[in-house]
Amino acid sequence: MTDTSIYKHKLLEEKKRLTSELGTIAHPEKGDESWGAVGTITDESINADPNEVADKLEEYETNFAITDSLNNELRDVNDALARIEAGTYGVCETCDGVIEDDRLHANPAARTCKAHL
Ligand SMILES: [Zn+2]
Repeated sequence: MTDTSIYKHKLLEEKKRLTSELGTIAHPEKGDESWGAVGTITDESINADPNEVADKLEEYETNFAITDSLNNELRDVNDALARIEAGTYGVCETCDGVIEDDRLHANPAARTCKAHL
């Protein structure tokens, strides 16, 4: 039986880090489960300097990409926390085998064992 308390602690730390990173570039869309990138093109900015609009669009695209990848990480962390609660943490999604301890140490949100990366 895997001792999940250490992983739970790591996952909660990771969740805190992801949430605070998301807080700087995004806003929550559904509780803290999903975030949307900040900065859309508004009616106001359509009349603005085209260079400014291009800058804003580029900033939004960058934020969108970062938000997307942070959202994925956050989803993995939340899923791992849910698996701890459900008692299924540390089980490979592909082969139902046990995920190696060192793999979980490196990535507590891992879904699969080393053979099924
Ligand atoms: Zn596996």
